[in-house]
Amino acid sequence: MKLLEQTGKASSRLIEAEPPEPAPGEVIIQTARSAICGSEMKTYRGPGLAGGNSGHEAVGTVVELGHGVTNLAIGDRIGASAVVGCGNCAECARGRYTWCKSASSRSRMHAEQFAIHARCCSPLPDDLPWDEATLLTGDGMGVPWHTAKKIDLADIQTIVVMGLGPIGLGNVLMQAHLGRRVIGVDIIDYRVDFARQLGADVSLKADETLIERIMDLTEGEGADVVIDCAGQRQSVANSFLAARRGGTVVFNGESMEELLAPSRDFNRREIWAVGCWYYFMSEVPEMFALWRNGLDVARMISHRFPLDQAPAAFELFDRGDTAKVLLVP
Ligand SMILES: [Zn+2]
Ligand SMILES: [Zn+2]
Repeated sequence: MKLLEQTGKASSRLIEAEPPEPAPGEVIIQTARSAICGSEMKTYRGPGLAGGNSGHEAVGTVVELGHGVTNLAIGDRIGASAVVGCGNCAECARGRYTWCKSASSRSRMHAEQFAIHARCCSPLPDDLPWDEATLLTGDGMGVPWHTAKKIDLADIQTIVVMGLGPIGLGNVLMQAHLGRRVIGVDIIDYRVDFARQLGADVSLKADETLIERIMDLTEGEGADVVIDCAGQRQSVANSFLAARRGGTVVFNGESMEELLAPSRDFNRREIWAVGCWYYFMSEVPEMFALWRNGLDVARMISHRFPLDQAPAAFELFDRGDTAKVLLVP
């Protein structure tokens, strides 16, 4: 089968690989779509992954059952969740695989087939198209929904989304859908414009006047919530500066260490700082319901490439001139 190999230093190529074998409890999925995630850029730009790839958002059809799988059948359409909990602890029983002490994560999904644990598969409603399913069962919309639940406060009016990669754009779409006034911020024109299409009231290109402009837009107070989706030193600093006194800063972006001075950044202004990583398996049905209630997640998709052209898709994504990019085997 065809599989994308990330060869490191921002390059990749298609290789011919042995089809995966299911371990006990696993199933083999014939991939219908996989999505490129911003979190893959660390591997892609850096060391790569010999013989594999960091793809972890995919949907497809069950074509083989491993030993002991009883909850799925051949031919089922599923969305895969890449974080695998042990299945036995209290967190797993609640569908919170990301809180399981023995959790691990899966990848190699930019391929014609991939293996995944059966309990990480969400059966798809018959009328849910593949494109939408890719976003609704993966972290593309999983993170924005998980974030929305963590900041479910009645008095939130204005939300700044700092960094408009796919996760940032997902937050824009989600928060606009929930009726909030959204201010998007990025350094790349394409993404600043795309955020407007997804419902941002205002979308700003970051420069040294950014905080001033956000204050002008918020009557000098700052935003009720700022979601950092860039994980850069500057974006994190700006996130605290853009939040109002007593406001909330949410971390979606993975940041480097030694970034915060609690006294300066949040003690004295009584900011709530919220960590938010991935989403719970148990939240997937809620995301299906959001779609049924009108959340048009397909608007997040800017490009679709055949799997054969995945190297070109990664180059384009790496330049920042995309929103969500899907690969289609
Ligand atoms: Zn992801
Ligand atoms: Zn567990």
